[in-house]
Amino acid sequence: MSGPKGAPQLDRWRRSPEFREIARRQCQEMNKRHWEGPRCEAAKRSDGQPCQKPAMTNGRCHLHGGRTPSGEGWHKPRWPNRGAADGMEKLDRKLKDQDRAARKRAKRLAAMTPDERERHENWHKARRPGAAAARQRARDERRQNAEFRERMAAQPHAPSPELQAITDELMNLRQRLAEIQTDKGVFS
Ligand SMILES: [Zn+2]
Repeated sequence: MSGPKGAPQLDRWRRSPEFREIARRQCQEMNKRHWEGPRCEAAKRSDGQPCQKPAMTNGRCHLHGGRTPSGEGWHKPRWPNRGAADGMEKLDRKLKDQDRAARKRAKRLAAMTPDERERHENWHKARRPGAAAARQRARDERRQNAEFRERMAAQPHAPSPELQAITDELMNLRQRLAEIQTDKGVFS
């Protein structure tokens, strides 16, 4: 196996001008790709100017929300890179942060009035994690239900044909019951 000194043949190749030329071109290519693409437009804290670092897929650099999860996993925590030398430290820190956030959340919930608690729960009900399509479906359903309730509230004097039929039937039965009871002398 190659130690720090490496296999002599490989070392010779790595030291060769050809190899260095290939490596240099590769670096240039990577840098070009890195800086040619879209830039981060977030305002820098120091002077308010656009950040201008290379943007990640969501249009922001890694410091300005580029690593913020989105899509189906938007609600899941981002774990540190396993291969990093300080990966374990970062993981510890992350877990501790999450713990602290959970305790803070519990304290906040406990201090809420029933009214505030209801508003809080409704807010979260309207923002459930999960796939975008499923959330959109749930949103549409909630909107349709609200519209239906609104329509029903706007015309309280227009019962549906089913309700009308049931009401009629109920009245018939009650009249019939009263007649039978009268016949049997219940009311006399
Ligand atoms: Zn940025």
